[in-house]
Amino acid sequence: MCETTNDPAGDAVAAPFFPGFSPAGAADALCFPFVGDRLLLTEAAALPSLAALAPLGPSQESLFFGRLDGQPCELHFWPAATPLPAGLQAAHYRQLWGHWREPWLSAASRALQLATWLSHNRFCGVCGSALRTDGQEPARVCPACGFKAYPRVSPVCIGLVRRGDSVLLARSPHFPPGIYSALAGFVEPGESAEACLRREIREEAGIEIANPRWFGSQAWPYPHSLMMGFLADHAAGEPVPQAGEIEDVRWFPLAALPPLPHPSTIAFRMIAALRAGGGG
Ligand SMILES: [Zn+2]
Repeated sequence: MCETTNDPAGDAVAAPFFPGFSPAGAADALCFPFVGDRLLLTEAAALPSLAALAPLGPSQESLFFGRLDGQPCELHFWPAATPLPAGLQAAHYRQLWGHWREPWLSAASRALQLATWLSHNRFCGVCGSALRTDGQEPARVCPACGFKAYPRVSPVCIGLVRRGDSVLLARSPHFPPGIYSALAGFVEPGESAEACLRREIREEAGIEIANPRWFGSQAWPYPHSLMMGFLADHAAGEPVPQAGEIEDVRWFPLAALPPLPHPSTIAFRMIAALRAGGGG
């Protein structure tokens, strides 16, 4: 079993997180424990000690998933219905913001998505047999028919549209009170990223865009998305919120923005880049 000495909130680790995949078993590994798709943490949002995990018994799955500053990282997985040991909380990614820093957040993002994959791929979608985790690649393999279930990554396009010194921001009914963000939506099968961007902004806000340009991307473990960020210019239309999807959408001057998403999000970084004069 692995150790849990770590400092997710500190500056000690300067190297990036390097992903990998193989069976677990390193004596000096960092242990990321999961019950279902939730990461177990202490009340101080730190990885728990091995003693705190002892009441869980042996894990159902143990996987090496990458290295932090050269140290192996291992995911230990218990089924979602497993009772939590006293003093531990079952956290999701958002709860790490403000407590953990990079590259620990990247490690947690990968571990969360792999735990979700283990939780959601227990049986073969073709023949119904129980799946097993492959030892060489991240695949859940069917011993009866050979089907392989890989971790799913779902691309999402997020677009920040500019008109002069204003940007188009919207509120989803799921957002915390007062928060506005850029518009976003899942890429449909058969659709390009650019076509998705144009469609989502047309559907959700009634706005036609021009000159879409790449900004950057962010892994987004809710539960397995990849946010692909674009800046774009306004071409035509006035904001009209899509019924049932968008509570409010409007142009905001860059000098008078509403409350925004957390600074860890690509939406915030896109808005900050435009406010700082970047983005073309
Ligand atoms: Zn099968």
